[in-house]
Amino acid sequence: MYDGRTNYIGGQWCAASNGATFPSLNPADTEQMIGIFARSGAEDVHRAVEAAEQAYPQWCRVPKPERAALLLRMGRLLEQNKEALARLMVLEMGKVLEEARGDVQEAIDMAYYMAGFGRMPDGYVVPSERTDIYCAARRVPVGVVGVITPWNFPIAIPSWKIFPALLAGNTVVFKPSEETPGLACRFVELLVEAGLPDGVLNLVTGYGSEAGTALVEARGVRVISFTGSTAVGKQIASRCGEQMKRVSCELGGKNAILVLEDADLELACKGAVWGAFATSGQRCTAASRILVQKSVKPRFLQAFVERVAQLRVGSGLDPNVEVGPVINRRQLERIHEYVQIGKAEGAEVVMGGTVLTEGAYAKGCYYAPTVLNKVTPQMRIAQEEIFGPVTAIMEVSDLAEALAVANATAYGLSLSIYTGDVRKAFRAIEQLEAGLVYVNLPTSGAEIQLPFGGVKQTGNGSREAGWVAMDYCTEWKSVYINYSEAGELVRAQIDTPVLSDGDSLSR
Ligand code: NAD
Repeated sequence: MYDGRTNYIGGQWCAASNGATFPSLNPADTEQMIGIFARSGAEDVHRAVEAAEQAYPQWCRVPKPERAALLLRMGRLLEQNKEALARLMVLEMGKVLEEARGDVQEAIDMAYYMAGFGRMPDGYVVPSERTDIYCAARRVPVGVVGVITPWNFPIAIPSWKIFPALLAGNTVVFKPSEETPGLACRFVELLVEAGLPDGVLNLVTGYGSEAGTALVEARGVRVISFTGSTAVGKQIASRCGEQMKRVSCELGGKNAILVLEDADLELACKGAVWGAFATSGQRCTAASRILVQKSVKPRFLQAFVERVAQLRVGSGLDPNVEVGPVINRRQLERIHEYVQIGKAEGAEVVMGGTVLTEGAYAKGCYYAPTVLNKVTPQMRIAQEEIFGPVTAIMEVSDLAEALAVANATAYGLSLSIYTGDVRKAFRAIEQLEAGLVYVNLPTSGAEIQLPFGGVKQTGNGSREAGWVAMDYCTEWKSVYINYSEAGELVRAQIDTPVLSDGDSLSR
């Protein structure tokens, strides 16, 4: 069990400089502690940034295939430790074992995918308009990268940020969520086992308001990669803006599944249950709105509610359980408060709507899978991210209204449509305002070889995963080399050939 020496700085495990600690608790039984972790402050963050700055000049000169080999070894170690990591994940943040394995698998996929980039082109050569001039553009690392992550994908999300950063030649300071520090420590321990050189990745555990803000403010950090709530993302982006620091933000969502009358309703129903209740609704891609065409709404709602009623809630270690606890008591209260807000706004609770407190639920943070009906687009529960096992059923008359309602929130992460009509599917692909669009699939289910991220208040235009994963942590450098023997200055655009209307080359 971790005992407070959980910062990893310059190749050494150490406690917070003032000795402060905090516990990480099991959300299925909050009397069970996962460990005690360093509660880092500005001083610890500065030491970590210094270590990353010192390691950078050497790491960025390590040949890229060698940096890639570190990721390859990390992928293998993640594979060997998949089951143990998944079980720790169930204990530390509550998702069910099958999904926890998926979370680790995503990091394995990312490690191998990124390792493959070690020998791929990282720039291009273009012709020059001048004789004997060589022109090329290549990606270069930015320096020290600050990584701040949430708790809901505690192994996958760090891998999305850290693997591309290391491959590109950056060094990293990693501040994981205070809800999942144990998993962050295991992740770093495995990287160390894979051969991570001292100072190349540094870990500071602790709270966002302490270690997180210090990392955003740290002068040596050149780019911040943040995933979390939109409220915090806005603060971080504005602080980075003032410092002219690069920032990549992956934020909240208010995702929707559109079910049209020509859809395979059985398939739509299965997808909606998974979309709304996987990870207890605590996915940034969770389907917290289900927009159903009026003509099929009664049939859909009946089938949906029947399926939701069968969902088994409990500890994620129980193989029969489909919905685990939510992350903590604060979040439990927040979810319940949203259901009350919904009721006050006129929504009807057709299933759930209660905190589960009896028997095996007594010590944990459990909320009954909840379905709200008669939800209209202006209601807060149709606009704000709830981040729990709660979904809103909304009625729409046709495709046009479905698209308009789907787009009518501040967010734009994941939208899905169920239809049997290819023309409607393409109309939706064109018009849905989201970074991810699914047809006949639920809102969750991203694969790592495609870009991941959202539009509007879900982000600031950056994307993770896919081959664009490298964008956030690299700069483009354009290089011009004169190898002519003429000893003559040839100026671009001035002494070079001009091609204009009806003209032949002037030189
Ligand atoms: P959060 O914003 O509370 O915290 C995220 C991280 O930021 C944590 O490490 C936290 O300690 C840190 N932090 C908090 N305040 C900070 C501050 N002022 N300065 C610097 N760091 C600070 O989010 P959460 O509860 O951990 O995660 C849930 C949220 O994350 C949801 O809104 C969800 O939609 C979002 N999310 C988005 C994506 C995506 O890719 N778009 C993926 C997963 C989760």
